[in-house]
Amino acid sequence: MNSRTPLGARIDTENLPPFANHPLADFSRHDQRDAFTAALVQVRSRLGALYPLFINGQEIRTNDLLSTVNPAKPSEQLGQVCQAGVAQLNRAIGAARAAFPSWRDTAPQERAAYLLKAAAITRRRAFELAAWQVLEIGKQWDQAQADVAEAIDFLEYYSREMIRLAVPRRLGHAAGELNLYLYEPRGVAAVIAPWNFPLAISMGMASAAMVTGNPVVFKPSSLTPIVGHHLAEIFAEADLPAGVFNYVPARGSVVGDSLVDHPDISLIAFTGSLETGLRIIERAARVQPGQKAIKRVIAEMGGKNAIIIDESADLDQAIPHLLSSAFAFQGQKCSACSRAIVPDALYERFTERLVEAARKWRIGPAEDPSFPMGAVCDATAQRRIREYARIGSQEGRLLYSSPVPTGEGYWVPLTIIGNITPEHCIAQEEIFGPLLAVMSARDFDQAIQWANSTRFALTGGIFSRNPEHLERARREFRVGNLYLNRKITGAFVERQPFGGSGMSGLGGKAGGPDYLLHFMDPRVITENTAVLG
Ligand code: NAP
Repeated sequence: MNSRTPLGARIDTENLPPFANHPLADFSRHDQRDAFTAALVQVRSRLGALYPLFINGQEIRTNDLLSTVNPAKPSEQLGQVCQAGVAQLNRAIGAARAAFPSWRDTAPQERAAYLLKAAAITRRRAFELAAWQVLEIGKQWDQAQADVAEAIDFLEYYSREMIRLAVPRRLGHAAGELNLYLYEPRGVAAVIAPWNFPLAISMGMASAAMVTGNPVVFKPSSLTPIVGHHLAEIFAEADLPAGVFNYVPARGSVVGDSLVDHPDISLIAFTGSLETGLRIIERAARVQPGQKAIKRVIAEMGGKNAIIIDESADLDQAIPHLLSSAFAFQGQKCSACSRAIVPDALYERFTERLVEAARKWRIGPAEDPSFPMGAVCDATAQRRIREYARIGSQEGRLLYSSPVPTGEGYWVPLTIIGNITPEHCIAQEEIFGPLLAVMSARDFDQAIQWANSTRFALTGGIFSRNPEHLERARREFRVGNLYLNRKITGAFVERQPFGGSGMSGLGGKAGGPDYLLHFMDPRVITENTAVLG
């Protein structure tokens, strides 16, 4: 990674255009299809590289290497990623700590300008960055491009948010007194990311931490460390000062606790499973010798999301949206629908139509855009999802199990299981794969009650043309992101700030107006202005 021209005054943070979402690609267009194919060819020509750590502005190699593979063809190794042990981790935390005072005192507008530069670099590399995701985690072209678009959105949005929050607020009107309310960063942030939105979520958490003045130690998922390395490349090209962004790929089971427990970590931004999230929250609460700040954890976790379809719904609209919510990217989204709740009277007609439409979802490598569904993330997930499908088929009635490709690849069938009720395991556990439970409720009261019957509260949706039902859903369907008459995935930065409550998360709402506040502490400065002298 070479340093480029220093950040000049070219980014005018005082006159930024209003935030606008990066456009999604239109792959019905020839030129966009050709450009994406070319990006895949370009990425393929770079397979087999070695990826070092990036600590304090320096590349660091270790002897412990992790290979990452194409989930549609696990014999294909994409590259080897150096793994950090506790020594490298401590070095990264030390570098971040040393960088903190000057980064904290860097003008917020200047910190924002670094993010805007990173956004420009990400835009320039957009299709190439998306093509890597097709190979490293099996995202379809449109899903991968949407992930990169969201990463750009986070950079653009959080830079504007920081500029907004940087202006101290004057409080009260007392004569002879000036009260200013302002924010300051907390210290070193550990950013711990999942694999399913490998660029967007990583970029969102890291950029929020950095723009608010907190240097970052970034641990990507072990399934997507090459995509994680792209953050290091982007921030190095943006000429971020040494130590502000440190890339430390490592096995969570080996260094995760050391990272969370370290006394110099003040902030942990985590997105991942409930199990890991609760472990982090618990460990972070224990004060370690030498620790000077109470750690704050920002945790976004799993979901068991439902869509209610009532008798008044237009099935021509509801079913494609439901299928996309449940099976796009193989159902591996925290926002994915895993429960469809319909009234008894609609059940037969609905399931018939649903299965008929699901048959068109053919499964094959994500590299081939004719397949709407691909392989799941790894062999462990493949085994787990198949096991849940087996359990679910005993709990309820198997309505559909799709064909899967023969030969290598982490394939699992698209599975739809009917006659499920809230007591069943597949109505409660987050499965994180292409498995949809269909539940037949007595009436709308029961549908709402069942929708709210899990410990998660992330996303939910309703398809209805009945205004009373829509109003009741607004009031009673308790999820972080509720969608009326549309799919429940694909939240956009600024338009649909994202995150859940219950066991789904601490309510941080990524991509929204409150998010950056979690990364800072407020301060109040009161001055007696009546003093003469
Ligand atoms: P995961 O297994 O919990 O892993 C998430 C991250 O935590 C990875 O980087 C992992 O490292 C690391 N980790 C593992 N053990 C750790 C420990 N003891 N201490 C610290 N870090 C540790 O989750 P995942 O499978 O990557 O992601 C899927 C989950 O994320 C699903 O539950 C999904 O619902 C959730 N998710 C939620 C949201 C949201 O916004 N609510 C968004 C996306 C995903 P290794 O990879 O090295 O194990």
